Amino acid sequence: MTDTAKQIEGRTGPWEMVLGLEVHAQVASNAKLFSGAAVGFGAGPNQQVSLVDAAMPGMLPVINKHCVEQAVKTGLGLKAQINLKSIFDRKNYFFPDLPQGYQISQFKDPVVGEGEVIVERDDGSTFAVRIERLHLEQDAGKSLHDQDPNFTYVDLNRAGTALMEIVSRPDMRSPEDAAAYVKKLRTILVYLGTCDGDMEKGNLRADVNVSVCRPGAYEKFRETGSFSHLGTRCEIKNVNSYRFIQQAIEYEARRQIEILEDGGKIDQETRLFDPTKGETRSMRSKEDAHEYRYFPDPDLLPLEIDPAWVKAIEASLPELPDAKKARLQSQYGLSAYDAGVLITEQARADYYEAAAKGRDAKLVANWVTNELAAKLTAGGLDIEDSPLKPDAIAELVALIEEGVISSKIAKDVFERMWAGEGRPREIVEKAGLQQVSDTGALEKIIDDLIAANAGQAAAVKEKPQAIGWFVGQVMKATGGKANPGTVNQLLKAKLGL
Ligand code: ADP
Ligand code: MG
Repeated sequence: MTDTAKQIEGRTGPWEMVLGLEVHAQVASNAKLFSGAAVGFGAGPNQQVSLVDAAMPGMLPVINKHCVEQAVKTGLGLKAQINLKSIFDRKNYFFPDLPQGYQISQFKDPVVGEGEVIVERDDGSTFAVRIERLHLEQDAGKSLHDQDPNFTYVDLNRAGTALMEIVSRPDMRSPEDAAAYVKKLRTILVYLGTCDGDMEKGNLRADVNVSVCRPGAYEKFRETGSFSHLGTRCEIKNVNSYRFIQQAIEYEARRQIEILEDGGKIDQETRLFDPTKGETRSMRSKEDAHEYRYFPDPDLLPLEIDPAWVKAIEASLPELPDAKKARLQSQYGLSAYDAGVLITEQARADYYEAAAKGRDAKLVANWVTNELAAKLTAGGLDIEDSPLKPDAIAELVALIEEGVISSKIAKDVFERMWAGEGRPREIVEKAGLQQVSDTGALEKIIDDLIAANAGQAAAVKEKPQAIGWFVGQVMKATGGKANPGTVNQLLKAKLGL
């Protein structure tokens, strides 16, 4: 593990970072966690608020079974323990945009326990992040500070929406690994259909816990399980892009190192990341759990889950990213890296499999992950919206496999396909891009023919029409794919006509 820990050279020697993430994922659901109010993006302010969400006196929460199912599904996808009995607690805190005055969450007994996520790095290697727990909780509403110069408005549409908080162990050691973990987590959730993974809308956001320590300390922590070997952590709230996660960690680790090297100590606190400045700043000193005065919500019975229901949910799970990756590797002979890239989105893997049918699978993987991916990224397109469908890529690869075009020419053909010039075969024919206009290969065939048929060659010099015999031979040798113009030209030059 040491080899992948990022080291930062300080004035007083090297430091390492330790990272643990709490990811908040909005549950994909039509209704809220404890009320029937709709969940949706883009509704007018306070249009999706029931009396329960507004915390009117006497209103009682009723658990939304679908949200529990989504949490169980996610737990199974994280290879985690599903707790058949879990408890909803009140977390007391001043939430300006949650009228109850407390958040219903799960503290001691979450619905999902320990699990694991296998994460892919850009270089194709993998590492494991241990999951500590997943619990269900309510989201708060939103305070709007920019509607009026003198007042803050509150929009409660989001209040009561179901969140899954997924807490990792402090198993990440570099900003890149932390971002890769969130990426993989997102992929799993989207495959499962339990969260839409839209980070721009804040439907998936991470609280990033950062501490720093000297080399060797983390290994001691892993051996003993004792947090005393680690530094004090700071938590950076609500970071909602892979880039910001990395920037925030980098900044925060350096900030802590500087304080420690100046002889100071780190205060455990909650910080905010300012993307425009690339800095973190203090928001509040971190409450310890007891300060929230958690206690079981008397309005809600313990949540009891039937094991048969868990089994049924398990049986309904789609093929998950890790299984798909393993299958792509064994079925198509792909490298771990290629398979890892293809499975990041279900649609990309589906596209690949449709294109690879009966074709050189490795070659198809290259086209899908390189050329096509680059064009889609440049055009801001999802693979579902690709103007080139899998059969077009398959046809292009077929042309390469058949030797009609070289890989180099295929790039040109691909550009033309992307520009809408038509099907690959059509483009090759129209533009005369066949491989055999590569003169090198043809020259060799012609040289051999002339050497083996000296008599015929001499005859052609007498009777130029006889060149047709040589043309026929070259065509035969190239399986009819030679460009006749090029063949004639070359023959004339070689035969001295
Ligand atoms: P809280 O609710 O107070 O944030 P949680 O237990 O929900 O506490 O989450 C704590 C998070 O901080 C976990 O992801 C954990 O892995 C991480 N963490 C704990 N100690 C450290 C540390 N020393 N350095 C980095 N991360 C840590
Ligand atoms: Mg927490």
